[in-house]
Amino acid sequence: MFENKMARDICKLMDKLHQEGFEAYLVGGCIRDLILGKEPEDWDICTSAIIDEIKRCFSEYKVVETGIKHGTLTVILEEDQVEMTTFISLKEDLSRRDFTINSLAYSKETGLIDYFGGLEDIKKGIIRAVGDARKRFFEDPLRILRAIRFSALLGFEIENKTEQQMLECKTLLQNVSIERITSEFNKILCQGEKTKNVLNKYSQIIFEVIPEAKKMDIDDWNKTLNAISVISDDIILNLTLFFHSLPSEKIMERMRYDKKTIKTVKILIENLDYNFVPDRSSIKRLLNKIGVENFRRLLKLNNNVIKKTEELLEEILDNQQCFSLQALAIDGDDLKSIGFKEGKEIGLLLNDLLNKVIDEEIANEKTKLIEEAKKCYHIFL
Ligand code: ATP
Ligand code: MG
Repeated sequence: MFENKMARDICKLMDKLHQEGFEAYLVGGCIRDLILGKEPEDWDICTSAIIDEIKRCFSEYKVVETGIKHGTLTVILEEDQVEMTTFISLKEDLSRRDFTINSLAYSKETGLIDYFGGLEDIKKGIIRAVGDARKRFFEDPLRILRAIRFSALLGFEIENKTEQQMLECKTLLQNVSIERITSEFNKILCQGEKTKNVLNKYSQIIFEVIPEAKKMDIDDWNKTLNAISVISDDIILNLTLFFHSLPSEKIMERMRYDKKTIKTVKILIENLDYNFVPDRSSIKRLLNKIGVENFRRLLKLNNNVIKKTEELLEEILDNQQCFSLQALAIDGDDLKSIGFKEGKEIGLLLNDLLNKVIDEEIANEKTKLIEEAKKCYHIFL
């Protein structure tokens, strides 16, 4: 099923283990990615061979002992590297994995092995803990952030019970090493529009890790997320946007970002409001101040904001969304007919309704607007 998509080298490694009489399966994220038609980031093989046996099988390859205590070896290939882990039983190994979508295994001989309904969840776009979510988050609370990361990365929804336990167990994140947290946070930040969605939905969990962000007022928070939503692939720029109204140095030092990253983010934050002018001297002055790479970053941010604004403008016009009193599905006469008196209150109420329509709090439909207007009787009558 996957042979043609699997790198030839990977097949060779699997075949070798089988020839030597060991069980061997591709497991985890790479199978998920193959099913989704994505190029896997990295490859994991789990096998019945113990470390010494794996080393013997691959004596002609470069092999690095990455986690010998846990029985993990990395075999270095020309283009890829493959992590190999020893298992006692495949099912036991898979049952310790975080989410059903990451708990699939595959070998040519057995085909896909799916003990926990991972295939179904991939098809439905659902992130679900393997086994009891609460227990799994107590075992390793980092999984709470991993769920958010996969939700952002894949655009999947988190299953209800899993989500409920994430929220209930969020304080356990205090017990996780900051390096592991920072690594997941970086991945969460770099998914553009989907980052915005998960940061909004799971803000309480993010605040657990970065309590300073809780103090941002709602307007600031929304502006920050909107800015992040137009940048997907530049971690420095996303960090700049996320921390721009917070004590970035203090937080980033705590989160063990390297000195260069912290400094770059600081410089970018200081120049975030720069107004670009098409003038050689101004460009050279800014280049002198922040360097070429950061200049391009700020420019990219501005360009993406313009591009996204253009897209939204066309969407608003194409769908004939209402943004003026003329287009509002209700007018002064309608308000008078339900008992509002002639006068400036009618104008105020219409503007109030228009604002609610613009903010997409209510639909631009007559019955909905009348209903909303009636809530204001007591103020105006
Ligand atoms: P990526 O594309 O980022 O590499 P991935 O799913 O491969 O995503 P990794 O962090 O490389 O994620 O982990 C590989 C596999 O190991 C996962 O798919 C999952 O099965 C398992 N795993 C990793 N971290 C955990 C954890 N904290 N708890 C349980 N299982 C985990
Ligand atoms: Mg991986």
